[in-house]
Amino acid sequence: MNELTPLTQAQETVLAAAAPLGCEKVGLLDALGRVLGEDIVAPRANPPWDNSAMDGFAVRWEDIRKEHEVTRPAELTIVEDVPAGQMATKAVGPGEAIRIMTGAPLPEGADTVVRVEFTEPSDVGVRIFQPEPLGANIRPKGEDVKEGECIIPRGAILRPAELGMLAILGKSFVLVQQRPRVAILSTGDELADLDELFDEKKIVNSNSYGIAAAVQEAGGIPLLLGIARDVPESLKEKIAQGLGCDILVLSGGVSMGDYDFTKIVFAELGADMHFWKLAIRPGQPLAFGHIQGTLAFGLPGNPVSSMVTFEQLVRLAIMKMGGHRQWARPVVQAEFQERFSKRPDRRHFLRGILEHRNGKLTVRPTGPQGSGILTSMVKANGLIDIPEDVETVHPGDIVQVQVLSRNF
Ligand code: AMP
Ligand code: MG
Repeated sequence: MNELTPLTQAQETVLAAAAPLGCEKVGLLDALGRVLGEDIVAPRANPPWDNSAMDGFAVRWEDIRKEHEVTRPAELTIVEDVPAGQMATKAVGPGEAIRIMTGAPLPEGADTVVRVEFTEPSDVGVRIFQPEPLGANIRPKGEDVKEGECIIPRGAILRPAELGMLAILGKSFVLVQQRPRVAILSTGDELADLDELFDEKKIVNSNSYGIAAAVQEAGGIPLLLGIARDVPESLKEKIAQGLGCDILVLSGGVSMGDYDFTKIVFAELGADMHFWKLAIRPGQPLAFGHIQGTLAFGLPGNPVSSMVTFEQLVRLAIMKMGGHRQWARPVVQAEFQERFSKRPDRRHFLRGILEHRNGKLTVRPTGPQGSGILTSMVKANGLIDIPEDVETVHPGDIVQVQVLSRNF
């Protein structure tokens, strides 16, 4: 239990333990960003009928073809004027035209729409001084959506385009995957809460807020349990409050100093732990297991370590439970701009700044990389992934970078 678990193995363990939750119905306006829980099959075609792509005249191409020369424009009788939202009641016969608007259903008998710009009023009705090809300006039935077709598959993330399509298909409610509820607990006698009056010797519990935001970004619902003190009763009581949630995220209390008592409390609560230490930096102390059916993560207390380990493990669990099929951040290759050395033992995640320079994607560390230096995360738009066996990265070397935000 005390050996270092490689990250890829830890990720497999976490993903194996995280099962997608059920589905719930939400109104269309609450569905943005949610994961679709059903296949959306079109109940009807869109557009539902052949219709006009222009304001103009529905005609028989036969009539305008014979007379296409500018010197002898076709003259047609207007038999009906169809306003927007109405359907023609008549058919277009030889020598006849029906005036229609964009989007209006094509009247019977017509096979072509002449746009209004190519016409002028005449004694008989309308004069067409420029021909259109056969079938011009007609949007055929089902050109967008065919009846019975699966338009949006289950598992899709709902964006504005999908929501517009759901509205076209008449869906005012939609089935989406449930979002996991994530209890967040900070531990430590040195902590004070954000709005608490505290003495200068205390440290603000910033982790709860950073982690809650990361939970939301991953699609989870955070529940803040506050601070547990470094005594077993406090930790046990607070953890018990979080066991109704799908996931419990502890921060602090798993490094060498606190390890033993956290371990005892976990054991008393019947925890089944899968690992306690991870072979990455930052973030070596990292506990993961089940406590009474809730997935429990014990993240290191240092603010950077808690965020980096959240990214690598907790985020995956939240996304998989939330029905996502793809949980990894996008990874890009970038040219490293500095020199970096480490011992060839653990995989490192450096906070990096990705930039486009002279047509190339480059990355450089944010500066000092200490696990208490949260400005390194503030400046970063990527995490530079330096493999376990690498000793030195040179300027110009290509490295893999997990993209945290797209502002580069
Ligand atoms: P620990 O993992 O409990 O040994 O904590 C390591 C260090 O992380 C502590 O000395 C604190 O400085 C810091 N720390 C722990 N928990 C938090 C928290 N909730 N918010 C901010 N910093 C924390
Ligand atoms: Mg502590």
